[in-house]
Amino acid sequence: RCELISNAVDATTKLKTLSSVGEVKGDLGDTRVRVSIDKNKKTLTVSDHGIGMTSEEVDKYINQIAFSGAKDFLEKYKDKTDEGQIIGHFGLGFYSSFMVSDKVEIETLSYKDGAEAVLWSSKDGTDYELEKSTKNTRGTVVTMYLSEDSKEFQEEYTVTSVLKKYFSFLPVNIYLVNVDGVK
Ligand code: ADP
Repeated sequence: RCELISNAVDATTKLKTLSSVGEVKGDLGDTRVRVSIDKNKKTLTVSDHGIGMTSEEVDKYINQIAFSGAKDFLEKYKDKTDEGQIIGHFGLGFYSSFMVSDKVEIETLSYKDGAEAVLWSSKDGTDYELEKSTKNTRGTVVTMYLSEDSKEFQEEYTVTSVLKKYFSFLPVNIYLVNVDGVK
């Protein structure tokens, strides 16, 4: 989904900025954003090597959304307006992934010294689980387990056209991998 890619691009741009002012030392390595589809697992994954999030940040930025009443709000207005419009308007970017998924997972490791990787997962954006993760590379991987109605996001063609339409002119490279195709 567009929002997730925007977040990945933001996180990468922030990292580049921190690097340019010397807050992040050393070679940044691969800073491209990877979008991958796996038809067997029915997943769409967006991964970046950006700034990542600490568990406190996940709490603050992700869980706050979960408890912000976004869901109630959407349910209340669902028949009256276009959901996409509400989400765009209120900046519930990440939350929009639940519109196409049965489950969403975020695995992330912050660039900050001593940060520990965490795995956050939620089936509906309301209840969530947070556990330790073994991820050892900086950045964030968001995996959407696509719902039955959202099969179009497993199609390379659909994802490619979204990427072309919205993400052609950016300072961060984005590439698409079709896991089935690689096999
Ligand atoms: P918005 O992007 O409108 O602020 P989101 O719900 O999409 O709202 O994201 C909430 C916050 O979570 C972001 O502002 C950012 O701080 C954090 N975040 C989301 N995705 C990432 C990511 N890939 N890497 C680092 N931080 C992220």
